[in-house]
Amino acid sequence: MTTTALSAISPEDAWMDYDEAMDLFDVVIGLEVHVELNTASKMFCSCPTDFGAEPNTQTCPVCLGLPGSLPVVNGKAVESAIRIGLALNCSISPHCRFARKNYFYPDMTKNFQTSQYDEPICFDGEVEVEADGERFTIPVERAHMEEDAGKSLHVGGATGRIQGAEYSLMDYNRAGVPLVEIVTKPVLGTGAKAPQVARAYVAFLRDMMRALGVSDVRMEQGSLRCDANVSLMPKGSTTLGTRTETKNVNSLRSIERALRYEISRQAGILAAGGRVKQETRHWHEDGGRTSSGRSKEQAEDYRYFPEPDLVPVAPDPAWVERLRETIPESPVARVARLTEAWGFTELEMRDVIGADALDLIEATVEAGCSPQAARKWWMGELARRANAADLPLAEAGMTPAQVAELQGLVEAGTLNDKLARQVIDGVIAGEGDPAQVVAHRGLAVVSDTGALQAAVERAIAANPGAVASIKAGRQAAAGAIIGAVMKEMRGQADAATVRELVLAAVG
Ligand SMILES: [Zn+2]
Repeated sequence: MTTTALSAISPEDAWMDYDEAMDLFDVVIGLEVHVELNTASKMFCSCPTDFGAEPNTQTCPVCLGLPGSLPVVNGKAVESAIRIGLALNCSISPHCRFARKNYFYPDMTKNFQTSQYDEPICFDGEVEVEADGERFTIPVERAHMEEDAGKSLHVGGATGRIQGAEYSLMDYNRAGVPLVEIVTKPVLGTGAKAPQVARAYVAFLRDMMRALGVSDVRMEQGSLRCDANVSLMPKGSTTLGTRTETKNVNSLRSIERALRYEISRQAGILAAGGRVKQETRHWHEDGGRTSSGRSKEQAEDYRYFPEPDLVPVAPDPAWVERLRETIPESPVARVARLTEAWGFTELEMRDVIGADALDLIEATVEAGCSPQAARKWWMGELARRANAADLPLAEAGMTPAQVAELQGLVEAGTLNDKLARQVIDGVIAGEGDPAQVVAHRGLAVVSDTGALQAAVERAIAANPGAVASIKAGRQAAAGAIIGAVMKEMRGQADAATVRELVLAAVG
């Protein structure tokens, strides 16, 4: 923890340094991840699911829960749920039902959410993730289908929360959008790496969902949402401690930070002889801390019962087997395969993954670039520009095909590194592909020896002092003449060639 994060801790929070907490306690984490499916229509009606539409333009009697309306299960959503389960190595239930989860809240006008309760479609899976060079197995309890709720917008308060708001607006476009909720079993044995393991697991889910093509998995838009449970037990104990659930942590980095914070907070309370309250907590990205939310000391009774308006889901085993063949390679296996194929070190690969450059480099290599050159551009020049503009690397302004083309021009001798950077400027500015920018800006390296020779002669005539030094044996003095030539050629000459010409002319 940095000192800034420490200063943000509210005085009522006890606190223990993370490393000290690791000496005294074992960490148990549990992750609940909601994945919004990218089906064209909603879970139980034919309303569209496009993100960002005008509020309440994508609704109908079914997703508004009007009396007498009848839901119909979206077959594509069931297919996606099964494929997700298979990718998590789950068993697929041959027969399962939906259930009503009864609660009253304005974001769900039916007064119940159609979900699955004791009969999830996918159960008992496990996945392997890699965190900080070490592999961990995450046991998956279940993955079930349900529908999303609407969105409330609380207006007039300082925080955007309902407390202090003057009024609230409701948008039901999201109500009924299909979700798959993936729940882990308690994850033990991750030691001090618990926050990194949690992050790696959610990154695994994001990459896997993307590879399956079942979700946009955009955490910032809420199509992948993570609730992180954590509890501590004294070293050597086997009794699970009281857990807290930190809600809607919406970036990979936040997951790691929020868990670290909660571990230090809980350890401080326990070490001072206090009791951790069972509650939901909210993560504050800006302050780097969590704050108390709803108490969960009394379990809510949702009065679940099987949904009478929907027939059970009974996927044909032959269909499930066909779907199994569509499951992509796991991210851990893919990373191992690419590390070897590209000849990267593990450290290089870890940096690539950390920078979210794996897909980009793979696509660049597929477009004909060498792996090392693809890594150089994405992790160097383009990462720098993306950081400066505060954009994800994929939105830095160049496509993998353009990077491969740029490298092709460098290898053909048309561009040196300096000119290549100017070409990147042009591509990002929207001037077209690299070859078009070279033509348009006149950036190619000058290979016309006649023009170079003339420039060299002019530079020699203008720098008699440097010439005298070279003749006296101080070849370093050639730098001034080379610099003058490069300047005249506006950087578009090959420096090594210029050096040869200068030394030949003087000598
Ligand atoms: Zn609808």
